[in-house]
Amino acid sequence: MAASGESTINQCEAIHGLCPTCGLCCNGVLFGSVRLHDDNELRICQDAGFACSAADETHGWQFPQPCSAFDGAFCRIYDVRPGRCRDFHCDLLQRVAAGECEMETALSRIEKTKELARKVQSQLHELGFGRQDLPLSHQYQNYQAAKTDRPIKGQMAFTDGQLMGTVFQLTQALKTFFFPEAGFSP
Ligand code: SF4
Ligand code: SF4
Repeated sequence: MAASGESTINQCEAIHGLCPTCGLCCNGVLFGSVRLHDDNELRICQDAGFACSAADETHGWQFPQPCSAFDGAFCRIYDVRPGRCRDFHCDLLQRVAAGECEMETALSRIEKTKELARKVQSQLHELGFGRQDLPLSHQYQNYQAAKTDRPIKGQMAFTDGQLMGTVFQLTQALKTFFFPEAGFSP
């Protein structure tokens, strides 16, 4: 917490300062899908062209990430976005808003995390499992499932080792900076 007299910024300023350069909660790195609260949210998402589907018998509807409303910086349906999107404020954002983390530090953590995500994506492409229309964790899980059926060797084994290391670093960054329950796990 900032000491008395130090400048602090509010949540709105933290959102404007961080989110347009980040997008990790919309682009399929932090989450694989977004659950919807009610039929009104479902209608808005269907009207926006989202591929909504039933989550399961008890949890209603959801739509997949990467979100089709995310343009790389902003949400195309920001004013009517679902409640889960509205309510989610990652740890980093909350710390900046509370004056517990400098904006510059937060931006550098975002950049470091995005760089790790890009690296994982590129290594998955190299291994033949890059599917940018899927959440990053699902691409990785697909690769892991296929790996059990076929031995890997040579350059593939080298890239596989690199991928394991990068996934570990990315998982740590997501859990430490953004969301302790981040689902990017082997
Ligand atoms: S992960 Fe945090 S900083 Fe990044 S876009 Fe989402 S709320 Fe904003
Ligand atoms: S609806 Fe908007 S805020 Fe929600 S995941 Fe999609 S781009 Fe992000």
